[in-house]
Amino acid sequence: MHIAIFYITENGLNLAKRLRGLYPDARIEKFRSDIVPKLWDDHRRLIFIMAAGIVVRTIASLINDKKTDPAVVVLDEAGKSAISLLSGHIGGANDLAREIAVFLGGDAIITTASDMNNLTAIDLWADENNFVIENMEIMPHVATRYINNGALRIYTEIETTLPDEFLRVSDPRFADVFITNKKDVYLKRQQCSSAECSTGSCHVKEQLYLRPENLIIGIGCNSNTSADEIEDSVKAVLNENNLSFLSVHSIATINIKTDEAGLKAFAEKYNFKINAFTADELNSVEGVSRSEAVFKATGANAVSEPAALLASGASELLIQKQKKSNVTIAAAELQRFTDSPICRSGKLFIVGTGPGGIEHITPYAQKAIKNSDVIVGYGTYLNLIQELIKDKEVISTGMTKEVDRCKKAVELAMTGKAVAVISGGDPGIYAMAGLVFEIIQEQGDILPEIEVIPGISALNACAARLGAPLMHDFAAISLSDRLTPWELIEKRLAAAASADFVTILYNPKSMGRPEHINNARAIFLKHRSTETPVGIVKGAMRENESIIITNLRDMLNYDIDMQTAVIIGNSQTFIFDNRMITPRGYENKYEI
Ligand code: SAH
Repeated sequence: MHIAIFYITENGLNLAKRLRGLYPDARIEKFRSDIVPKLWDDHRRLIFIMAAGIVVRTIASLINDKKTDPAVVVLDEAGKSAISLLSGHIGGANDLAREIAVFLGGDAIITTASDMNNLTAIDLWADENNFVIENMEIMPHVATRYINNGALRIYTEIETTLPDEFLRVSDPRFADVFITNKKDVYLKRQQCSSAECSTGSCHVKEQLYLRPENLIIGIGCNSNTSADEIEDSVKAVLNENNLSFLSVHSIATINIKTDEAGLKAFAEKYNFKINAFTADELNSVEGVSRSEAVFKATGANAVSEPAALLASGASELLIQKQKKSNVTIAAAELQRFTDSPICRSGKLFIVGTGPGGIEHITPYAQKAIKNSDVIVGYGTYLNLIQELIKDKEVISTGMTKEVDRCKKAVELAMTGKAVAVISGGDPGIYAMAGLVFEIIQEQGDILPEIEVIPGISALNACAARLGAPLMHDFAAISLSDRLTPWELIEKRLAAAASADFVTILYNPKSMGRPEHINNARAIFLKHRSTETPVGIVKGAMRENESIIITNLRDMLNYDIDMQTAVIIGNSQTFIFDNRMITPRGYENKYEI
């Protein structure tokens, strides 16, 4: 995709150079009307940093057909507006303008009508995630920018998963939306100098505040304090600390205050839950200030600070005790991810979905999937259970991205969501369960609740299709050397073969290594006869299922791939009625 950027002035040149950050290979040219025709045919994207009129006059005679004309975007020198001028759809000018706008913190100007759809609605998303919109009146401006840019820039101070078209920014100056409990996000932040400020102005205009309800207000009060006084005190303290009242989640106090009329009325007015703790519970919290008077009256060393900490699960206070005549107030941030009494952490189900379709998934596993908010898995397995997950948020990545997948799942569970990590077969057999635990162990963090839910593994499914080959001691060996050195695999093959284990081979033929199965066979032939029964099952319990019963001599004549498992019998295994059976030894003990 050849890109050319034309400029006229010094500022234009500077902006063109900044765009190199986005398009490192772009050709930068000082504008001359005769140079544009020369680049018109072999550059697919043309960016002009100058007045739109100049561009229109220059390209008028070159325009031919919307299927072949290049994308033309016009940009003002400050980088505030990126206008998609020509070939918006097919040529990609709309996308180009959006990309530039998001990169520069400006706006894309898009005039094609059909781009107004298919974006996650801000207010619905806020509502679903329990964020309260504070300055609703500016929503039209933000929504327009969002539609034009095709992306909404979010600055968030709390962990949250964002839809694809929401873009996380790390500097509030470039955000359309803030998610924060801070009343003013800029207060106490370093002021930017205009040289540093790449949009030329201090920040994107009209920024929307979304409030997470994550403040726990610890309250102690004298008897008969009025609801109004409590409300005024809470608001004043939050104000003084640059925190938003809209972010209050609930209040916390000592149990003997739950009948205090003023406190009850205040809580009812705003629908705040009152989290109440006994004096003993409050006294169990260390490192908070103590008051002799409070102790005499209540038996607790302190109320507002320990109550806020206990209810939030936080280890430190956001606001230390502040006294307003009859009311004492402290605040802490709700840790969604701890086992605080009001907010349990999320749950992580590690679910095995069996070999194929839904009928082979246990009812319990199906229930876990239904009860999950988010499904994380690898495409093929998810396709097999599409019916179960069609109305879920699904995060799917390629097969070799297991670590990313697991990390994402853990992260989401820590935000309080119920997450199902899906593995085909059993999740604890060459699958995701171990990896999840390894990741969590490494994090050493507060853990989400985890439940491993078993599934029918390929060894069960394939054995059932073949007859009863696993009736005696058996070994499962994966021939994939992606995570295990081949030498070790060979050692285990030799051990299983020499000890006369029935052996099931998982991952028998990795894409890159077709010879693994040949080597495995050769090892077995050292210890077992060529007539040893071998079962080859492909896609067990799936639509494309195929079942072959053969022996060590002929096994390589059949198609073996990554959807196949191979079962090699032991010295006693026999074939009967086109089934593969390993005797347990009953015939010696009982008359059959
Ligand atoms: N957790 C899975 C195994 C994952 S490793 C389980 O418990 O079954 C992937 C390998 O499993 C595949 O290469 C194949 O050897 C085997 N496998 C998985 N599903 C299978 C099926 N339906 N039929 C045959 N083999 C299967």
